[in-house]
Amino acid sequence: MTMKTFIAATILLAAPALAQPADRMATAAKLRDTALASNPAWPLLVDLTDSVGPRMAGTEAEARGRVWAKAAMQKLGLVNIREEAFPITLWQRGTESARVIGTNHPLVITALGNSGATPAAGITAPVACFDTLGALRAAPDTAVKGRIVFIDHRMTVTQDGSSYGVNGGVRRSGPAIAAQKGAAAVMIRSLGTDFHRNPHTGGTVFPAGTTPIAAVALALPDAELIGRLCKRGPVEVNLVSTPTSQPGQSANVSGEIPGSVPGEIVVMGGHLDSWDIGQGVFDDGAGVAITLAAAATIKASGQPPRRTIRVVLWGSEEIGLVGARAYAEAHKTENIVLAGESDFGADRVWRVESRVAAAGLPLMAEIAAVLAPLGVQPQPGNASGGGPDVGPLAALGAGVLELGQDGTRYFDLHHTPDDTLDKVDRAQLDQNVAAWTAAIWLAASDDRPLRTK
Ligand SMILES: [Zn+2]
Repeated sequence: MTMKTFIAATILLAAPALAQPADRMATAAKLRDTALASNPAWPLLVDLTDSVGPRMAGTEAEARGRVWAKAAMQKLGLVNIREEAFPITLWQRGTESARVIGTNHPLVITALGNSGATPAAGITAPVACFDTLGALRAAPDTAVKGRIVFIDHRMTVTQDGSSYGVNGGVRRSGPAIAAQKGAAAVMIRSLGTDFHRNPHTGGTVFPAGTTPIAAVALALPDAELIGRLCKRGPVEVNLVSTPTSQPGQSANVSGEIPGSVPGEIVVMGGHLDSWDIGQGVFDDGAGVAITLAAAATIKASGQPPRRTIRVVLWGSEEIGLVGARAYAEAHKTENIVLAGESDFGADRVWRVESRVAAAGLPLMAEIAAVLAPLGVQPQPGNASGGGPDVGPLAALGAGVLELGQDGTRYFDLHHTPDDTLDKVDRAQLDQNVAAWTAAIWLAASDDRPLRTK
């Protein structure tokens, strides 16, 4: 035996034996059933909701959420608990109201994150009506200048949430496009599918060089009213919205179950921040509770994973994915082999998707097989984007695991005052935990390459 083969043999002997596939599948199935029968997601979600409250990025409430998260991680047995700060622009809602001049119809509105302010008495101006973002883009500046722009795009109900992808540009880009054409303010039809008198907030983006103007979302019944009035003739509205922006700070929180072979990391998590007008349950207290509960189930099983499992709770997602970008930048030299995010409410997982190296596809098939009894189907294609907080890690080469949740009612609740704890179906919440527990344990007990670059 040469020295070289001796060393190789020694390393082979020293390395912990990888469980055989049948054992791993059996263990994953057992973990899945254990989580389904009992897991701490519900008490965690109740405690986060009731003891911390809504967690707007950069606020003292979000900081309270981090204190809660670190204590929860410690209690569940995670180690290497870290808080990593990054700067943000702290945007805070002011006074907001709107009414139609003449009839005095009150309009139910909510300001969009990062939007600018009107004077305290508001802006009274004629409304320029557009059915779509494309129509606004095509309009001459003269049709917009000095007016309150109204965009009346319509979302539809989809199980996979794809209508949000199609219409999301209206909220993100519409206000800036209107500002560049000289608009006084913007009202959009909420990105939502309910017809309750609830507006849906959300972030918008004013690129450097474009001065933010007031931008609000109308509840769907109010958008319907403005849409009808636009067809009758000229409409004038008084709009008050007085948010403020200032330099602020947010942070990501993480904790680990260390792997037996150091140097490979599997990340799962959700985002800690939430909008201010609801309770931050569906978006995304649920994702926080689901992934913490999955880690707790694995930890409590006493089966050490081969790869390190790291729960990351991102800060400041809603206001521009600031935490996700800061996290990816700070951890770009680490070997994060796989990342997954739970950020689509608390309803059941119905499909599993991935984007991993070809060598990792058999592992994804094993995950799909263990999740099948939960009613989860594999989504072919190996082209998952993974979700907003995972995107920056995926761009650096991390493999992506996506457990797609049923979004049929998600956009009834998303970013509204109705995002509250009573909406959670505990059986579906537990099904999520079971799926994450089994999938992450299988990925962390494996050694096949997953990174895409
Ligand atoms: Zn979210």
